[in-house]
Amino acid sequence: MENLCPDCGQALMWESGVYVCNPCDNTFIKQGYCNTCSAQLERLQACGSTSYFCHECNELTSRSTANIVFEATKTVS
Ligand SMILES: [Zn+2]
Ligand SMILES: [Zn+2]
Repeated sequence: MENLCPDCGQALMWESGVYVCNPCDNTFIKQGYCNTCSAQLERLQACGSTSYFCHECNELTSRSTANIVFEATKTVS
């Protein structure tokens, strides 16, 4: 599965917990949003698989139904 930069479309590199785009010199995190209520989802890691939990709906959302976006993070240097 390929992770592409939302800005330039280049493949992102996974590096110490974040996704890095070298051409943009930017770092991204993967963030899930609920399809039902648009609330930010909590990511749950279990045995190599990822699922998301919506605190608003009080429901577990599968990776395929969650709205996954890459969000740019500002790294403090
Ligand atoms: Zn980029
Ligand atoms: Zn929800």
